[in-house]
Amino acid sequence: MSSLHVVSLVGAGPGDPELLTVRALRRIEAADVVLADDLIDPRVLSLVKGRLLRVGKRGGCISTDQHFIHALMIREARAGHRVVRLKGGDPFVFGRGGEEVDALRKEGLDVEVVSGLTSGIAGPAAVGIPVTDRRASPGVILVTGHPGEGRAEPDWAALARTGLTLVIYMGVARAADISASLLAAGLRADLPAAVVSAAHTARQRHATTTLAGLPDCIAREGLKSPALLVVGEVAAHAGVAHAWPGVMAG
Ligand code: SAH
Repeated sequence: MSSLHVVSLVGAGPGDPELLTVRALRRIEAADVVLADDLIDPRVLSLVKGRLLRVGKRGGCISTDQHFIHALMIREARAGHRVVRLKGGDPFVFGRGGEEVDALRKEGLDVEVVSGLTSGIAGPAAVGIPVTDRRASPGVILVTGHPGEGRAEPDWAALARTGLTLVIYMGVARAADISASLLAAGLRADLPAAVVSAAHTARQRHATTTLAGLPDCIAREGLKSPALLVVGEVAAHAGVAHAWPGVMAG
């Protein structure tokens, strides 16, 4: 990092601070200012020693005023401050990290990306789901259930045909439509499905069901965002909690 003006885009992981990378922890502790999204676990926020600015909107998926965040990062970096932009999970997985990197580079600032554990892999793992267990699926698709205003809906029929595990982010509110689309594409009604909510946080909950039963299960269990939907044979592995003691202590 040669430039004086460096912004670190840091992945905070899914919740439990034990899942931060060593580099993420170092950047958080050294930062003069941290711009954090809403989904960041309070235990991670408590590691911040500098100024903490909460810039996200509730839910983490509703359109935030990106320009405001960009302007704030640019101003702080130009003032010579060590800036950390803290994002849930991995900054480049549904986190608009790419847009933020572009905006900063356009202003001549250096950007460092510190990868984090994405919730779509660590979340299912927290309840015992191996997303690419080779006995069940040769791969996994990470896809959004909420592409955002004016953006194309995923081609659910095409995804269904791959036979790969589907891990759907931001899908809880749209679970009925997603389930119907996948069933219409020919996936079995009794294909295992799981919902993992607030993985690796003190509020972690999950349920297993079938593709057809997904919407009812979410309503019955009261499972809320942030949550992942997992569709595929591997979802049947859910049940054993693979959580760290720290998660339970919350
Ligand atoms: N960059 C993040 C994803 C941001 S989009 C990552 O890599 O994990 C926000 C969505 O991520 C939520 O709607 C939810 O689907 C998922 N998510 C984030 N944290 C989660 C958690 N602790 N448990 C379950 N889902 C989570």
